[in-house]
Amino acid sequence: MKFGGSSVANREQIEKVLAIVRARRERAPLVVSSAHKGITDALVAAARTAAHGQLDHEDCRAPIERQRAILAALECPPDLLDPLFAELGDLLRGISLVRELSPRSLDYVSSFGERMSVRAIADFFTRHGLPARAHDVWDLGFVTDANFGRARPIPGWEASCRQAVAALPEGELPVITGFVGKTTEGEISTVGRNGSDLTAALLGAALGAEEVQIWTDTDGVMSADPSVVAGARNIPNMRFDEAAELAYFGSRVLHPSTLLPAMRGEIPVRVLNTNRPEHRGTVIETAAVENPNPVTSIAYRERQSVLILRTTRMFGQAGFLARLFEILGRHEVDVDVITTSEVSVSLTSGDRLGLEAAEPELRALAERGTCELRHAKTVLVIVGQHLPQRPGIAAKILGSIAGAGVNVEMVSYAMDSINLTLVIDDRDIDPVVPVLHGVLFEG
Ligand code: ASP
Ligand code: MG
Repeated sequence: MKFGGSSVANREQIEKVLAIVRARRERAPLVVSSAHKGITDALVAAARTAAHGQLDHEDCRAPIERQRAILAALECPPDLLDPLFAELGDLLRGISLVRELSPRSLDYVSSFGERMSVRAIADFFTRHGLPARAHDVWDLGFVTDANFGRARPIPGWEASCRQAVAALPEGELPVITGFVGKTTEGEISTVGRNGSDLTAALLGAALGAEEVQIWTDTDGVMSADPSVVAGARNIPNMRFDEAAELAYFGSRVLHPSTLLPAMRGEIPVRVLNTNRPEHRGTVIETAAVENPNPVTSIAYRERQSVLILRTTRMFGQAGFLARLFEILGRHEVDVDVITTSEVSVSLTSGDRLGLEAAEPELRALAERGTCELRHAKTVLVIVGQHLPQRPGIAAKILGSIAGAGVNVEMVSYAMDSINLTLVIDDRDIDPVVPVLHGVLFEG
């Protein structure tokens, strides 16, 4: 059971979490927690400010002050986190002295949020009749590579995880840090921002859990962002591939990498609402029930760049695209949408700097052709099972967008795919999403 930052934001929320976990105790859950809402941001700000040498700035005091306020609200012993406060203070001082912030030091600073929250939560639970113990996930075998800021557990870690978890005392609920890890050298790492979902999915897969529950602040996965579309609805069931598409393209409910370990282990992921635990939420699994609605959800990613390469060198040639992708691969440009004609190729990426770095080589590849970059584009994805088998659905989607006075600049729609992907201007996303949602879900 993973609880996100908003689920453990304050005493009121942590009391809800206590009731939820207590009610599910006979299933022997492991709890994975994020930092309290806002603490990780405050830690990152403190690290940056310290690196400017401004140790006296309020930014550097904010994380500890905020954590102290939560401790007081939970009526924890005031000295519960003193060792961590002292360690964080020393670390920020060190950063302010050397005035540099490496990805490794940033991970070290960021790790305090989860390390503090699990201790506060376990203490609170124990005093309210649910015996619990805080664990740093590295003590449960979560050993990672040294890719700071996006670390992943090393091959074979699962066996030590199973062993460590099997040795935990019975009758004590484990409350485990999300987000963080430790390398084989013993240095603290993180799996990346919003990564506690991923920690939970990795643990669930390693332990062969019945299911992974992601407790958040919406009624499961919704058909669109409820803060943008008032009529957004809950999606009761989804397949992994649909959910992966959505997670990647901007639905803020799930971290994009979360689904991989669960998918491989065929462990269902259930997304639930801490504020409304009775709501069934969304179940994501391999063989999902057929979705009665042709479209599952709408998601989008703004601030994308488009590369347009036009050259007669492509005409009737084998291997041109291979050369294009070799260049992009070398510059580590992650490509999302591709469309081609005989003499041109357009593709999108969120990596503007990478595309700009590759541009001279791409120009050379195009020879007498042209190579152009355009920015401020949105990739809009309409996800649904069997979309290409439904006559008229593409016409309906494109027609409603045209009706909203918006121009579509790229379309990708593959045989047997689960998504229709469109590229529009960033400024057009606001009018498009409610119109599309109305036509596809409220019609
Ligand atoms: N606390 C971390 C963050 O804010 C991880 C998480 O919340 O999942 O990014
Ligand atoms: Mg979060």
